Amino acid sequence: MSEEKIIEIKDLSKSFGDHEVLRSISFGVNKGDVISILGSSGSGKSTLLRCVNRLEHQSSGQIFYHGNEIKDSQKEVNEYRSKVGMVFQSFNLFNNMTVLENCMAGTRKVLHLPKEEARERAITHLKKVGMAPYINALPAHLSGGQKQRVAIARGLCMNPEVLLFDEPTSALDPEMVGEVLGVMQELAQSGLTMLIVTHEMGFARDVSSRIIFMDQGYIAEDTTPAEFFTNPKNPRSREFLSRYI
Ligand code: ADP
Ligand code: MG
Repeated sequence: MSEEKIIEIKDLSKSFGDHEVLRSISFGVNKGDVISILGSSGSGKSTLLRCVNRLEHQSSGQIFYHGNEIKDSQKEVNEYRSKVGMVFQSFNLFNNMTVLENCMAGTRKVLHLPKEEARERAITHLKKVGMAPYINALPAHLSGGQKQRVAIARGLCMNPEVLLFDEPTSALDPEMVGEVLGVMQELAQSGLTMLIVTHEMGFARDVSSRIIFMDQGYIAEDTTPAEFFTNPKNPRSREFLSRYI
């Protein structure tokens, strides 16, 4: 794995009123990293991803993308989001658009691809997630697992350098979790850089290259899956893991 740093987070803190939700978070994301972010509900995982994606603005600290601090002008944020995309728990598809249109919207609007190229790219990625047979379907006619696979294809259409996932399988019926995790595993193996908030411990252990464990807004542990799952250093990590056994 190369050591090319894509994202660097330095001393990031975020408060809502006087509630400090992120406390002095620092870590780097190298090309090819697959980082699972674990932690109890309320520990700040979503807020961290939302800061990385610029859906939230930190109270202090900095985020660098290829060494440059991210600027918050709309133009730069749109460009940045095409490189650092996000997949949400609730899919966030456009319900009035077909699967194909959902996957073409960003490449047409933000990347200004010609229609034919946008269409070809959409179909390539929809094939990758097994959703090519559904290009003309509306989201309302899809299962949760299918919607999430379309959302992943839509993210891939931007040719992102990094994809962020915020509990991508938490809204799914249990029988659909596997199909989405399978797609994510293939992406990880293809070398895509990923930051994944998840409660799927098997996936975190087997697929990620690194575990970040968050507790009350802090990074309590930043280590390998082998170390985290067999020899967690932090008492909070041990307590967290004991809930999954
Ligand atoms: P997690 O994703 O780990 O469950 P979150 O990042 O969603 O945690 O939330 C961390 C804490 O920040 C929680 O206590 C939550 O209530 C609070 N929080 C999150 N977003 C907001 C907001 N927009 N306004 C006020 N409090 C918020
Ligand atoms: Mg969350």
